[in-house]
Amino acid sequence: MPLVVQKFGGTSVADSQKILAAARKAVRARQEGNEVVMVVSAMGHNTDLLIDLARQITDQPPAREMDMLLSTGEQVSVALMAMAIHSLGYEAISLTGAQIGIKTDSTHTKARIQSISTARMRAALAEGKIVIAAGFQGIDEDFNITTLGRGGSDTTAVALAAVLEADSCEIYTDVDGVYTTDPRLLPEARHISRVSYDEMLELASLGAGVMHNRSIEFAKKFAVPIHVRSSFSDVPGTMITARPEAVDMPVGGAALAKDEARVSILGVPDKPGSSLAIFSKIAAKAVSVDMIVQNIGVDGIADVSFTVLSDDLPATLKAAEAAKAELGAESVTHGNDMAKVSVVGLGMAQQTGVAQRMFLALADAGVNILMITTSEIKISVLVDRAQGAQALRAVHQAFSLDTPPKGAADRGNDVAPSARGRGDAVAVVARLQKMEELSIDDIALDETQARVTISGVADTPGIAAAVFEAVADGGIFVDMIVQSYGREGKARLSFTVPQKQYQACLDLVAGLAKRLACGPASGSAKVAKLSISGIGMRSHTEVAIRTFRCLAEAGINIEMINTSEVRVNVVVDGRHGAKALEVLTKVFADAR
Ligand code: ASP
Ligand code: MG
Repeated sequence: MPLVVQKFGGTSVADSQKILAAARKAVRARQEGNEVVMVVSAMGHNTDLLIDLARQITDQPPAREMDMLLSTGEQVSVALMAMAIHSLGYEAISLTGAQIGIKTDSTHTKARIQSISTARMRAALAEGKIVIAAGFQGIDEDFNITTLGRGGSDTTAVALAAVLEADSCEIYTDVDGVYTTDPRLLPEARHISRVSYDEMLELASLGAGVMHNRSIEFAKKFAVPIHVRSSFSDVPGTMITARPEAVDMPVGGAALAKDEARVSILGVPDKPGSSLAIFSKIAAKAVSVDMIVQNIGVDGIADVSFTVLSDDLPATLKAAEAAKAELGAESVTHGNDMAKVSVVGLGMAQQTGVAQRMFLALADAGVNILMITTSEIKISVLVDRAQGAQALRAVHQAFSLDTPPKGAADRGNDVAPSARGRGDAVAVVARLQKMEELSIDDIALDETQARVTISGVADTPGIAAAVFEAVADGGIFVDMIVQSYGREGKARLSFTVPQKQYQACLDLVAGLAKRLACGPASGSAKVAKLSISGIGMRSHTEVAIRTFRCLAEAGINIEMINTSEVRVNVVVDGRHGAKALEVLTKVFADAR
C-alpha cells in the first residue's frame, strides 16, 4: 500500500474546525488506499505563548525545561487530531517523539535527530490506524525531551517520510506553495509549480521562509519529494524535488533579506590565518555570519567584509575589534541599515551574463551595490535597506519572473519511490545513524582560472554593471565574483576568468577602470579555486572555519572567499591548488 506523510503546521490546526478539516484530508487519503502518517505542529501561536509564559517567570529558563514546556504544544495537537479521526469513524493513534523513538542529541532547543525507529509506526499502520506523530520533538539518550528548533515539525515530517520510504510527503500550510519571491513584498510574485532542492535551500536561507531549511537538506539527502500546499483548498501546490521548474531559465526566484548589517575589517594583513582569526572569534559569540566576502589586496593587505543580522551587530563588532587588534588590521567599519537581494537558479550555472543582467537592472533602478557574492546558483548583493524593495522589484522584472517559463515541468514526481534508491530498510536505518551530520558531496579543484581585481570602486550605482557589460562584450567568461567594502567607502571588486582570457581581460578592465574613475586594476594569471559542496554547510557553520583553519595551517593564503547554503568557494594562489585540495580532503574525510 502506498504511504503518505501529511504535515499540518500551526495555522492549519489553529482551532477545532481546522483540526477536523485536517483530519478529513487524512481520512480521504486513507480512503484512497494509502497508509497515512500525520505530523502535527502546535495549535496556532501556542509555541509563542509558551515561550512568553516562560519569559514571565525568568529571563533564563533552563533549556531542558524549555523543551519540556514547548513539547506540550504538539502533544495537545496530536491528541485532538486522534480524537478528530476517531470522530470520523477511522482508527488513529497519537504518538510523541519519544513514543515513536525519535532519538536526538542533547542540544536542547535545537537538537539534531540521530535515529528514528519505525517499528511502532509500522505496527500501528499494519493494524489499519492513521499514525499521528508530534512534530518538532524527540528524546535524548537519557530520556530527556528535546526539540528541534523553531519550525522543526517540517524536519520531523521529512525525516519520517525518509525512514518510512513514503511515496509522498505533503506539507500543508497557510500558503499554496512557493513563489518567485515573497508575495507580501511584491504582488507580481508568481506561484511556481516546481522548485529544486538546491534552489529551495538557497531561497530558504534568503528569507523566503516557506519551510525549515534543515527539512530541505533532509529531503535532498534522502530524495524525498515534497509537495507544499494549502490546507484550506485543494489546489496543487509546489513540488520540491531534484529538478527545477524549467531547465533553461537562468533564475527561478529572488529574495530580500531586510535585517542585515555589514561589518568590514579593513587593511587585514594578506597572510594565512587572517580569516580564521576573524571568523573563529565571531563564531565564539554564537553569531551566525551570512555573506562572507574576502578580497585580495593590491599591496599586501586584504579587506574582509561580512554580514550578520542587525540584532547581532553589537556582539559582532566586539569580536571584530578583537580580531583587528590581534591581526594588526587598520580599522573596523560597519553599516547597520542594509538589505540583501539575491537571485537563485539552477540554470545559472549553464548560462553566461546572468550577473550582468542583475547588475544592469540595479543600475537602471539607481541602486548602489555595496557588496557582491556569487555561487554556482546564486548571486547576492548588499544594498541600502531603503532601496531593498525597489531593488527586489527591479531584478524580479529583469528576469521576467512574473511570467511562467515555456516548457515548465509538470508537477508529477520524478521517479517512482522504489527507483529512488533509498535502499532496503536496513540500509536506510544505517544511514540514519546520526542522519543530520554534515555531509560533504564534493571537494573540487579548478586550476583553469585567473583573477582580476579592481580597487577603488566608486560608491555609485552602475559600476559593476559597466564592468561586466564590457567584460561580456569582450567575450570573456566570468565565474566567481566578489565585491567587498573598502576604505573611504570605496569597494574592491574581484572576479575569476579563464587563464587564456586573463591578459585580454586585464587590459580591458584597466582602461575601463580609468574611465570610471576607479582603479587600479591588478590580478593574478593563475589562481586555484576550491569548492566544497554538500549538505548542512550552513547549519554546520564550522565548515568555513575548518576550511580557513586547515589552509592556514598549511601556510596557504586565501585570496577570495564566498559562501552559500550549499557551498564554500575559496581562491588561493595558483601554485597551491594541489596542496589545498589535499589538506581539505583530509580535513573533511569524516564527512564524506
Ligand atoms: N511548534 C513549533 C514552532 O512553532 C514547531 C513547528 O511549528 O514547526 O516552532
Ligand atoms: Mg510552524
